[in-house]
Amino acid sequence: MTIKTRFAPSPTGLLHIGGIRTALFSWLYARHHNGQFVLRIEDTDRERSTDAAVQVILEGMAWLGLEHDEGPYYQAQRFDRYLEVINQLLEVGHAYRCICSKERLEQIRNEAMSKGEKPRYDGHCRALNLTEDNAVVRFKNPLDGAVVVQDKVQGHVSFENSELDDLIIARSDGTPTYNLTVVVDDMDMGITDVIRGDDHLNNTPRQINIFKALGAEIPNYAHIPMILSPEGKKLSKRDGAASVLQYRDEGYLPEALLNYLVRLGWSNGDQEIFSIEEMVAVFDIKDVNKSASSINPEKLLWLNQHYLKNADNEWLQKPLNDLFMGMNIDLKDGPDLRDLIEVQKHRTETLKDMAEQSLFFYMDFDEYDINAAKKHLRPVILEPLKALYEALKTIKDWDNNSIKTVIEGTADKLEIKMGKLAQPLRVAVTGAGISPSIDDTLRLLGQEKSLSRLLKGIEFIENRSSS
Ligand code: GLU
Repeated sequence: MTIKTRFAPSPTGLLHIGGIRTALFSWLYARHHNGQFVLRIEDTDRERSTDAAVQVILEGMAWLGLEHDEGPYYQAQRFDRYLEVINQLLEVGHAYRCICSKERLEQIRNEAMSKGEKPRYDGHCRALNLTEDNAVVRFKNPLDGAVVVQDKVQGHVSFENSELDDLIIARSDGTPTYNLTVVVDDMDMGITDVIRGDDHLNNTPRQINIFKALGAEIPNYAHIPMILSPEGKKLSKRDGAASVLQYRDEGYLPEALLNYLVRLGWSNGDQEIFSIEEMVAVFDIKDVNKSASSINPEKLLWLNQHYLKNADNEWLQKPLNDLFMGMNIDLKDGPDLRDLIEVQKHRTETLKDMAEQSLFFYMDFDEYDINAAKKHLRPVILEPLKALYEALKTIKDWDNNSIKTVIEGTADKLEIKMGKLAQPLRVAVTGAGISPSIDDTLRLLGQEKSLSRLLKGIEFIENRSSS
């Protein structure tokens, strides 16, 4: 049988890393088994669903390469089908209309709460055979026996039917509720394996009962535990509960994020680095931990740096270009991105760091970093910088070798240490004390810009000493 999994997010909040990990596990399981992966947008809550959230889901999945074989299906477009199934359940007596008033339900609730019991609907309308159109529809849950879930992560979990009440499957306005739509979709779409967050484990016995009532095949289940903050608390926005696209905008690579997420709650020996192909080859849902795991931002950075170092320069161009565009940086007047990447990718942890640390290549700066200027643009270096300027001017082939030779030669001639000359030069041409090696920095900047900035630095020192 072909394995078919699905990712079924509700677009009521922005897709965050917890959701993405669920998607990844479902996707990996399908890919590992040469199966199919379905994307389904559960947008039946018309008030809370937003187009922006749908966009984040589609863009986030595409960015990460978690491509689907079917869908995206939108539940809001399937209301006729849900209605059909609700009517079918009513006809065969697996569901009934209920007209219990809010007040009555409130009263049942309060009574249960005062006795310290879980509030449950008492089945008042179950045998009344009501036909009112504007009534809610409830599913007739079996009254006794147990529902056993053989969960691939949680193990054997049993629920007593006596603990479950007759849940509402259609509201009084006719709209279907979550547990009904999920079952209809999983049935219609032929889902064999439901992999989702363990916050849905309590819904599973209800869903299984509906599957049984419909005479449908019951899928396998795997409920994966939550992701917690480093302190073991619920994830907050700051911890990464924000949109997955924020990771892209902060310069993380998809491979790094996926590698990081796959290791949250799943392992294969001591291995830390997994290419996508390796994940597909070795992933098994049975190896997912039952207990919650905490995020570890340093590890994500470490992985990102690893993937950045090893990434193809051509490939990195587009995301880096997008980041520069987001910062309104004109790239025309500066080094080719591939050359920049080659130099910077070994020195930065994220693409955003790379962009931020490379701004001086593309933009002139108005001011020097105060501390760097104080320390390095001092009168004592004025004459050496002037000599260096003249020497750099004579270079015919502006490459690392010539640049280095000229700087070393000037330092030798003036009997000062190379670093004593290179650091003021760096501050003069970049505005600050940190940049790639001085020869790479000058080469990428180009001869004209390097010279004009050096000249400006010289003038800065002159003005400073005369004021
Ligand atoms: N739409 C549900 C959610 O976003 C998931 C439902 C499911 O996976 O069964 O939590």
